[in-house]
Amino acid sequence: MTGAADLHLHSHYSDGSFSPAEVVRRAKAAGLGAAALTDHDTVDGLPEFFAAAAAAGLTAIPGVELSVDEEDREIHLLGYLIRWEDAALREALTRFAAERRARAAAMLSRLQAMGVRIPMRAVEAAAGKGTLGRPHVAAALMEAGVVRSMQEAFDRYLARGKPAYVPRTGFTAAEAIALVREAGGVPVLAHPVRSGVLGEVPRLAALGLMGLEAYHTGHDAADTLAVCRMAEEHRLLVTGGSDCHGEFKGETPLLGRVRLPWEHVLRLYAAAGQPPPSPG
Ligand SMILES: [Zn+2]
Ligand SMILES: [Zn+2]
Repeated sequence: MTGAADLHLHSHYSDGSFSPAEVVRRAKAAGLGAAALTDHDTVDGLPEFFAAAAAAGLTAIPGVELSVDEEDREIHLLGYLIRWEDAALREALTRFAAERRARAAAMLSRLQAMGVRIPMRAVEAAAGKGTLGRPHVAAALMEAGVVRSMQEAFDRYLARGKPAYVPRTGFTAAEAIALVREAGGVPVLAHPVRSGVLGEVPRLAALGLMGLEAYHTGHDAADTLAVCRMAEEHRLLVTGGSDCHGEFKGETPLLGRVRLPWEHVLRLYAAAGQPPPSPG
C-alpha cells in the first residue's frame, strides 16, 4: 500500500477558503489516497465532499471537528467515520450553534451595558462561516478600535472574571465524545500539544476517547513523539493531518504537508468496525 492520507482539512463550510470540491482536487493533486473533511462543528460540507471524491477516485473520510469549551481553554475533538446523516448528531450540532450565538449575544449586551456598542453582524463578519466564539467578539472589539489587540480584548472584557465574560454553553468533553461514538464514529483529540492538553489524555481516555492526532503542522518532531508515546501508553490510535484552512494572504496551503501512512487509516476503519478502504 502506497497511499497516504491527510485527515484534517477545512472547507468554506467552516473557516476554510476552499470549497469541498477544491479540497478534493488538491488532495488528488498532492497524490493522497484518502482525505478527511473536518469542518468546525458542521457536517454540511460532506455531501459535496463525497460527490467530488467519488468522481475523482479519492477515498473520502467523513469527519467533524467539535469545539469543547472548558473553563479557560478550548479542546478540539475530531470525529471520524461518523454517520453524518444521523439525526441526533445533526440536532446536537444545530443546538450547539444556537447556544454559541446566544452566548455571543449575551457578551454583546454586557459590553453595551458598559457603553461599548458592537453589533452582532460585526461578530458574524469576524467569524465568517466558522463557529461563533469569544475570539470573534475580540476581533470585532479590535475592528471597532475599542482595543488594540485580541489579548487586550480578553484581558479587559472577555476572560473569565472580566465584565463581559459569559460562561460556556457548548459541549463538555464527555458530551462531545459520546456524540461522536453514538454516531458510529471514532473520537480523536486534535493537536493535543498545540492546544496544551496532552496532560488531559488520561481523563479523556476514560471518557471514551479513541485516538490522538500526533502528526500536525503545529507539532514539531518532539511533539509528535510525545503524542505517540501517550497514545501507546493509553492504547489509543494515532492520526494526523495538516489542518489546512485553504489559502490566505498568498500563503501556501498546508494540504498534504502531513502524509499519514496508510496503516493508520486502516486502524481507524477497524476501530469504527468498518471494512478497510483501498487508497485512491
Ligand atoms: Zn483545531
Ligand atoms: Zn482544524
